Amino acid sequence: MNIIMLGAPGAGKGTFSAYLEEKYQIPHISTGDIFRENIKNNTELGAKAKTYMDKGELVPDELVVSLVVDRLAKDDCAKGFILDGFPRTLPQADALTKALEDAESGIDYALNIDCPDEFIINRMAGRRVCPGCGASYHLVNVPPKKEGVCDVCGAELIQREDDNPETIANRLRVYHEQTQPLIDYYADQKVLENVDGTIGRDNVFAVLDKLLD
Ligand code: AMP
Repeated sequence: MNIIMLGAPGAGKGTFSAYLEEKYQIPHISTGDIFRENIKNNTELGAKAKTYMDKGELVPDELVVSLVVDRLAKDDCAKGFILDGFPRTLPQADALTKALEDAESGIDYALNIDCPDEFIINRMAGRRVCPGCGASYHLVNVPPKKEGVCDVCGAELIQREDDNPETIANRLRVYHEQTQPLIDYYADQKVLENVDGTIGRDNVFAVLDKLLD
């Protein structure tokens, strides 16, 4: 099953992707996580990506597309994948369509996690993440059992550098301009499913179960 997660930054794509990864045993591929990993490891790609990420801008298509196409060719994607944060522009979507067509494959579901902007702003301002295992929390909605500490691995939680108010506003502007048009793109391909992202994590899980089972 080949799945794309669409939706604004902070809509919960990462949380829902992790749920589907566990359930269907297919890899969750997050381009944002790949870039953050490269930044942590001081790679050339990481240094290039960081200049865009810090401002809330998109990393140029040419730095993203080949990275994803190469990743999808790996053996663990043979039974499917969950793409989280890719594609984010129409050229990226076209490149993905072409790469999948070349492999006689395609997208089965584009899940659009739909949330209004005010909801996103609140969600991202309260978001805390674990630098150790990548688990995600929210100060109010999904607090860790012990304040500031990851439930899963015990590391100290941090706020992502790009979860500050100015960068959040810019990421939302970029989302509306460049990524939102993909909703129509995948509706045209007849694979779009809209999911209300405001109904709480467990309710979204239940909606996803119903859609995909
Ligand atoms: P995310 O964790 O998905 O919110 O991504 C964090 C940041 O990484 C984004 O704000 C972009 O700067 C960059 N990024 C992630 N995925 C892409 C992509 N498909 N195209 C361009 N930039 C991306």
